[in-house]
Amino acid sequence: MYHKVDTDILQQLVSIAGEENVIWDGERLEPYSRDETVGLRAEPEAVVRATSAQQIAEILKMANRERVPLTPRGAGYGLSGGAVATQGGIVLSMEKMNHILEIDKANLMVTVEPGVITGDLHRAVEAEGLFYPPDPASLDSCSIGGNIAEGAGGPRAVKYGTTKDYVCGLQAVLPSGDIVQMGGKLVKNVTGYNLLQLLIGSEGTLAIVTKIILRLLPLPAHQVDLLVPFDDFQAAADVVSAIIARRIVPTAIEFMERDIVHACQRFLDKELPFADAGAQLLIQLDGNHQEALDQDYETVGELCLEAGARDVLVAADRPTRDRLWEARRAIIDALNHESPENHMEDVVVPRAQIPALIRGIHELAERLDVRILSFGHAGDGNVHITTLRDDLDNETWQALVPEATEALYRLALSLGGTITGEHGIGAIRRSYLPLALEEAQIDIMRRIRAAFDPNGILNPGKIFP
Ligand SMILES: Cc1cc2nc3c(=O)[nH]c(=O)nc-3n(C[C@H](O)[C@H](O)[C@H](O)COP(=O)(O)OP(=O)(O)OC[C@H]3O[C@@H](n4cnc5c(N)ncnc54)[C@H](O)[C@@H]3O)c2cc1C
Repeated sequence: MYHKVDTDILQQLVSIAGEENVIWDGERLEPYSRDETVGLRAEPEAVVRATSAQQIAEILKMANRERVPLTPRGAGYGLSGGAVATQGGIVLSMEKMNHILEIDKANLMVTVEPGVITGDLHRAVEAEGLFYPPDPASLDSCSIGGNIAEGAGGPRAVKYGTTKDYVCGLQAVLPSGDIVQMGGKLVKNVTGYNLLQLLIGSEGTLAIVTKIILRLLPLPAHQVDLLVPFDDFQAAADVVSAIIARRIVPTAIEFMERDIVHACQRFLDKELPFADAGAQLLIQLDGNHQEALDQDYETVGELCLEAGARDVLVAADRPTRDRLWEARRAIIDALNHESPENHMEDVVVPRAQIPALIRGIHELAERLDVRILSFGHAGDGNVHITTLRDDLDNETWQALVPEATEALYRLALSLGGTITGEHGIGAIRRSYLPLALEEAQIDIMRRIRAAFDPNGILNPGKIFP
């Protein structure tokens, strides 16, 4: 069992990190008691804002010795409760370790501390003509360390992959307090087990990431976005396969159902284009040669019209492109505005199974007599599905959420998918892990975790049922 943070432990934290970096009073603890997961809250007993790997090593040694649980925290923008200290203890915040240490143009690598906000990294490398593709919709708020711990993805995954495809080196502090270097500015590396990839998506349960080396690409010179309305989702989905079959891989292919666009209109308090269409696709293409890009987007436009698109709106300049993305970027806020109590899932299925998933969701909404709205990444099969409480009474809502959640998971699994594509298991999905993974896999994962952290001090209460 774990020990509470008492005066002695607080004194040890202060002597390691300095009084200015340790928080223990109620009001100042509150912001660290939640992330962006609706309805989840747990106040830590203390927060430490770390400033170096050496400091973190000392804190971990102490937490291990005293058996105090420790929960790493990036920017607190997670959607599965990973940064919430559900078992109490210490929250280790990376907010002060937020420096871009080096942009190495010769090796096309950037070295950063984990607290760097993802959008700041994008802007810094883009100013040098370089490109870091992973683009979670939360990029102006979340941190690179959180992206690594969650294995974050984003709309550009269809062409460029996710965070895991860009991490070449990590410095990490193990629960024992050992500081280890994994990989480096290396494109190739097969030296021993790939522990670096094991840390990606480990949700802060294996080690604390303290330095990160990321691979960069040259920034594509041109970009174009297309907003395309369809009468129904099936036509929109058919076009996605047709585009890819023509060997054009868009940077992003996002979809929004009509009810989502209507929710965005209400939230933004303005008319949005094609709001009455059954479904919309937002397609982004990029490339270095304007002529080739023009050819591709004309082909994409033709394919859309052949599949029954009502129109194709093209945006090549930044302000028009931003206008097309306005609704997509506002969706989560619009859903919260629509019904402050809601429940979001992010299942993933093979791309071609999205229409079957959407049909199943409509049937489920009808059966449960509740609004379930969907949007997401048509290009990679990851769909965000939100059940809205609206005016349901509390008892009905509390019974409905687990029923809807399990039905959605079973639907995704029956289509060859799984229960989360981006947001992770964290605190809120752990009881469902056995639906998605065999006992033998869960057992190996538990043993890996125990090998890193025999005393189970790092982010307990996450991932495992
Ligand atoms: C509006 C909105 C849109 C979103 N869109 C996307 C999206 O498009 N794609 C996507 O993938 N996610 C998305 N998310 C989810 C979220 O932003 C990501 O999971 C993000 O990676 C979280 O980063 P963070 O810095 O906020 O991490 P936190 O929430 O602070 O932490 C997340 C996890 O990482 C661990 N952790 C943090 N830092 C470290 C570290 N240095 N070492 C070890 N463990 C660490 C924590 O313990 C926790 O388990 C969205 C969230 C919101 C609110």
